[in-house]
Amino acid sequence: MIIYEETHPLTWRLKKKKKPIFLKKYLKYNGYNGAKKAITKFSPNEIIEIIKKSGLRGRGGAGFPTGIKWSLIKKKKSYLICNADEMEPGTYKDRFLLENLPHQLIEGIIIASYALQSKCAYIFLRGEYIIAEKNINYAINELLDKKMLGKNIFNSNFSLNIYLHTGAGRYICGEETALINSLEGKRANPRFKPPFPSSSGLWGEPTCVNNVETLSNIPSIIKNGFHWYKNISLSIDSGTKMMGFSGKVNNPGVWELPLGITARELLEDYAHGICNGYSIKAWLPGGAGTNFLLDKHLDLPMDFNSIQKAGSRLGTGLAVIIDNKINMVNLLLNIENFFSRESCGWCTPCRDGLPWIVKILKCLKKKQGKINDINTLKNICNMLQPGKTFCAHAPGALAPLKSAIKYFKNEFEKGIIYK
Ligand code: SF4
Repeated sequence: MIIYEETHPLTWRLKKKKKPIFLKKYLKYNGYNGAKKAITKFSPNEIIEIIKKSGLRGRGGAGFPTGIKWSLIKKKKSYLICNADEMEPGTYKDRFLLENLPHQLIEGIIIASYALQSKCAYIFLRGEYIIAEKNINYAINELLDKKMLGKNIFNSNFSLNIYLHTGAGRYICGEETALINSLEGKRANPRFKPPFPSSSGLWGEPTCVNNVETLSNIPSIIKNGFHWYKNISLSIDSGTKMMGFSGKVNNPGVWELPLGITARELLEDYAHGICNGYSIKAWLPGGAGTNFLLDKHLDLPMDFNSIQKAGSRLGTGLAVIIDNKINMVNLLLNIENFFSRESCGWCTPCRDGLPWIVKILKCLKKKQGKINDINTLKNICNMLQPGKTFCAHAPGALAPLKSAIKYFKNEFEKGIIYK
């Protein structure tokens, strides 16, 4: 695969070597030109308008338009937080960017902080990402040594400090208000909304939380313009996306591809198809918290709207193949066990509902299920719908379960004792 800046704005600097790019090489490959241009040529509001016009949608899973998110922040005193707490099972795209292209992320943070007029930005990093921690710290120190970070960046009036914070390892810290609580040293429970972080976030000040991949897109948009960014996509959703396939495929991995490429192209051309002796039973388009899709959905474009219309979510864009040898009850037990363990315990439906699901799935796995178990699972799914729990953790956890019962009910029925 030949990659160019014009077609692969996130990964072109890596070419084939895939070694981390630090400052000397980053500068050689046009590094910090986007940040220089942003700070010296545009006002903060002009940057926000460019990002709005680019159509960039958040790459953390929710897909909220980034420019609109930025425009909600009151610029008196604000904070930018980079959400690098990537912990969704099956997802490793931010890790790739964090480990290999730390300066690209930092450049995105500088531009975003300038647009929001934040003087302080945090990177909240998943604690287990040891290499990412090392490389980001190294990159920040390189910039501090060259006086490219801190006071008066690029001889402007704009000053910024960036701090790296490593989390202690809770999935819920990826939820933006729980992340803010954690950063303040409190227990990582999600907060009541309103107030939203845009008006009262970190230390009670307006706060914007953006994902790693989202921020990594910013430098090239500023450098090359919003028209260019819209045009490199194959769909109405702009830009490229880190996408991948894992499971029983010949070449599992992550690649930067234009939004709108079909899942089948991604599977065949990049993941090199399913391993010999296996066939596809289902696939998760974007992490463990998305609904299963089937073989017939593989020709769908990988973009936010198309995947949503088919009944799932693009999520993180890291797809997982479920092969014909996997038992859905066993798989669901594994997934729901994870989500149950990672519930923050704040609200009763999630705290009690998810372990109840795990208990039923355990019985179904042992072929000791009761006649009403499938109905009970469906009822719990209804009880934990969006809006019925304090945050989106429980509804997300149940997405794979609901779709598995819809498509593979017979496998659940096999675990029931009919007397
Ligand atoms: S839904 Fe779950 S994770 Fe979210 S607040 Fe309630 S208990 Fe915590």
